[in-house]
Amino acid sequence: MTNSISPDVLKEQLKKTFGFSQFRGEQEAIIQNTIAGNHSFVLMPTGAGKSLCYQLPAIVMPGTAIVISPLIALMKNQVDQMVAFGINAQFLNSSLSRAEINRVKAEVISGVVKLLYIAPESLNKQENLNFLQQANISFVAIDEAHCISEWGHDFRPEYRKIRTIIENINAKLPIIALTATATPKVQQDIQKTLNLEDATVFKTSFNRKNLYYEIRSKKDIDKQLIRYIKGHSGKAGIIYCLSRKRVEEISDLLLVNGINALPYHAGLDPQVRMSNQEAFLNEEVDVMVATIAFGMGIDKPDVRFVIHYDAPKSLEGYYQETGRAGRDGLDGTCILFYTYDDILKLDKFNKDKAVSEKENAKLLLSEMVYYANLGVCRRKQLLSYFGEHMAENCGFCDNCMHPTATFKAEKEVTWVLDAVKQTGEKFDAEHLADVLEGKSNQYTQSYEHEKLSCFGMGAIAPWNVIEPEEEDDDDDEEGDDDAPKKPKLLKKSKKEPNPESQKSPWISFIKQLVIYDLLAK
Ligand code: ADP
Ligand code: ZN
Repeated sequence: MTNSISPDVLKEQLKKTFGFSQFRGEQEAIIQNTIAGNHSFVLMPTGAGKSLCYQLPAIVMPGTAIVISPLIALMKNQVDQMVAFGINAQFLNSSLSRAEINRVKAEVISGVVKLLYIAPESLNKQENLNFLQQANISFVAIDEAHCISEWGHDFRPEYRKIRTIIENINAKLPIIALTATATPKVQQDIQKTLNLEDATVFKTSFNRKNLYYEIRSKKDIDKQLIRYIKGHSGKAGIIYCLSRKRVEEISDLLLVNGINALPYHAGLDPQVRMSNQEAFLNEEVDVMVATIAFGMGIDKPDVRFVIHYDAPKSLEGYYQETGRAGRDGLDGTCILFYTYDDILKLDKFNKDKAVSEKENAKLLLSEMVYYANLGVCRRKQLLSYFGEHMAENCGFCDNCMHPTATFKAEKEVTWVLDAVKQTGEKFDAEHLADVLEGKSNQYTQSYEHEKLSCFGMGAIAPWNVIEPEEEDDDDDEEGDDDAPKKPKLLKKSKKEPNPESQKSPWISFIKQLVIYDLLAK
């Protein structure tokens, strides 16, 4: 087995095959580590150039490298790319016919194949194991390694068996696990489950300096959305929605309003899905409205904005999805439309899960809530979530560029707690707001809450500073989920009073306070 290769030869190969004259970041050290026969664990954000870390050693080492990859579509893309570079790469997955499988296997055994992409399901099959035992394998790359962790955003149970299978092929094979997952918890889980505690860890900063992060209130979202996209016409963007139905509605809405958009979700006919994706990649369409089924492995460098129409299930997922903006290094904008109602909705989806899973899901959601509500630099929050400390504020997020006015709410917090206690801990924010403001109605009367000492305590409060920015429009709040929304042409409206803004500011204040508690239950 080759144990080292001169830096010059490696660089020459980089130029010859890929046309690059420099390694990026730690690519060279990572490649040398595999060639030396060591295990590697590579943590780099999307777009950093992870693929090259296994493609190049595969080319220079004798034998065939196995690349375990979770998505069939992704495999095909990568194989096509390698073939275009003049490298013999093949894949083995359920999309192949028996004859094709036999041909691929024969080529691998003959020793001409440099990279064999294989799905974890296929790896699990006994016949494939037998075949791989006969082949001359150089090393094993595990792409998207976070799929092994239940804490990650994309758990695939088949990933759990990978290490045992590799041992069965050849216990001495070097392994390189790669992921753009940034949370320390998932990282530990990957290393433990893959039994890669002795791997050399290569971790680069996850800071995507060219991405601008912003949270907006989900008020009048359709108008905000259309206004934003029209203000950036001709630019490529992705709108992430939670449900397939919402994807369809929003892509219709955009179309009706003159925006060149297409839907993408797992419920679409595979051919339609594929052709919509191609249209986006080939710049025939500007905006992809999609569920999170869209994006993994999509290498479109010039995505200028990623908008989350609905709150994501975790910050981890959010970071991956926003990471698809600005892969070319130029600016990308990431806007999340946020309302606490979305969190409650997501929380409801978890109700049938097993206890431990439910707890985990709640924890992930509460982290999302913190992120959306805190006035702290967004990048600082994201990176600290991923275990990276940033000393200075970034200067390139909404909180840095438009800091919200803050005030010490010690008194107000005490009043709310008093009101919650005095009313017996069973009333909603709307009722508590009435009590605090001293608003008399049939409920405050019938429960005799007007006699409480907290009644009217908060009649005057410094609200103007915590209300979300006033938007100028009227109408549609989130409708009933089962009633499909009709796409409509949205016109600029005259200034009308917003019913939202007439609600007591105490309501949103109380909701912000109870968020953490509710989710902890
Ligand atoms: P990741 O898998 O980390 O998301 P990719 O492997 O898809 O990233 O690489 C992102 C882009 O960077 C690709 O277009 C790739 O060709 C390019 N790239 C990788 N390494 C280099 C390099 N050393 N020099 C220039 N471009 C590179
Ligand atoms: Zn910032």
